[in-house]
Amino acid sequence: MKFATSCVHAGVAKDPAYNSVITPIYPTSTFAFERIGVNKGYDYTRSGNPTRAAIEENIAALEGGLRARCTCTGMGACTIALFLLEPGAHVIAGHDIYGGAFRLMHEVFAQRGLLFSFVDMRDPENVRSTVRDETAMIWIETPSNPLLRIVDIVEVAGIARECGALSVVDNTFMTPYYQKPLELGADIVIHSTTKYLNGHSDVVGGALVAKEADLADKVAWLVNALGVGESPFDAWLVLRGTKTLSQRMQAHSRNAQALADFLSEHPAVNQVYYPGLASHPQHLLATRQMSGFGGMLSFELAIDKITPDDFFSALQYFALAESLGGVESLIEAPWHMSHASMPEPARREAGITPGTIRISAGIEDPDDLIADLRAALG
Ligand SMILES: *Cc1c(COP(=O)(O)O)cnc(C)c1O
Repeated sequence: MKFATSCVHAGVAKDPAYNSVITPIYPTSTFAFERIGVNKGYDYTRSGNPTRAAIEENIAALEGGLRARCTCTGMGACTIALFLLEPGAHVIAGHDIYGGAFRLMHEVFAQRGLLFSFVDMRDPENVRSTVRDETAMIWIETPSNPLLRIVDIVEVAGIARECGALSVVDNTFMTPYYQKPLELGADIVIHSTTKYLNGHSDVVGGALVAKEADLADKVAWLVNALGVGESPFDAWLVLRGTKTLSQRMQAHSRNAQALADFLSEHPAVNQVYYPGLASHPQHLLATRQMSGFGGMLSFELAIDKITPDDFFSALQYFALAESLGGVESLIEAPWHMSHASMPEPARREAGITPGTIRISAGIEDPDDLIADLRAALG
């Protein structure tokens, strides 16, 4: 099956009762046994549910993994990945990873016996020189948020393999349509399905996809033991979303490229961050490991010419909101919003300023989006 066919069909045929074309929602906590030890494959929804199984099969196929588990949020997926480790284990992560993942590591798991090093992963040597005997996991997020920095997955997953550590890739921004971490050597892919996989800003969810059977078994065991599986209704919404993933990602990417090109030329914009621009310092690496550049871009607004608030309030189509990956365009100021929980020096060190603006390009007509930005920039 080719990718777009898997989006529509993988995991979907799940109605032996009436042959409905769409997977039914099974909103049940429990499943009756025929007799002791004999049931139809499900006993209790925390452990497994046919609707959730359908989206899990779908996402596993899209990522080219063996099996997937879907969780109630993306943070739920991050939590499960870190629970694969024993106390005393050392984790290397990027210094510019998703704020919620940083908080989970720094304020929850560091208090419970895991050790963390946060490094600039643009240079794989920074990872190699941080490896020690206890290193058990390398956590990769690429492109990073909000400045779209790229980590070389082949190189860094290779370092993990050499030192016997697991490599985890958060593939939320690119989705398997544009980036396949398991093919590039990673052990586990995680997602916030809240974003592009669902794609309609109407659900929160997460996923973990494992390449090997023993890891897939451990993940499934933990999702049941910790009780963070996705609800059947939310699973059904994400399954509806993944069917159009190919078409949506093409539209997001086309629009982001058009906006990046437009903003690059504008006098009220100082710098544009988008891996699809030839001026992006890692454009060649991006071209090598991604088959497209995705829907996220950021830029530096010349705040001596226009304030972020004046700019935002003049926009018609871009909602001022956090999150990303839905069909509608969103805009925000990471300094004041998505990254405000980072201490100010950490924000500055990460390259975020009060004028940094992040856009999640939707799938509207690019001409309307560009006209909107042009009018608001004055
Ligand atoms: C949103 C996000 C998460 C967390 O997912 P939730 O669904 O909000 O819990 C993790 N990683 C990345 C890259 C994200 O964008």
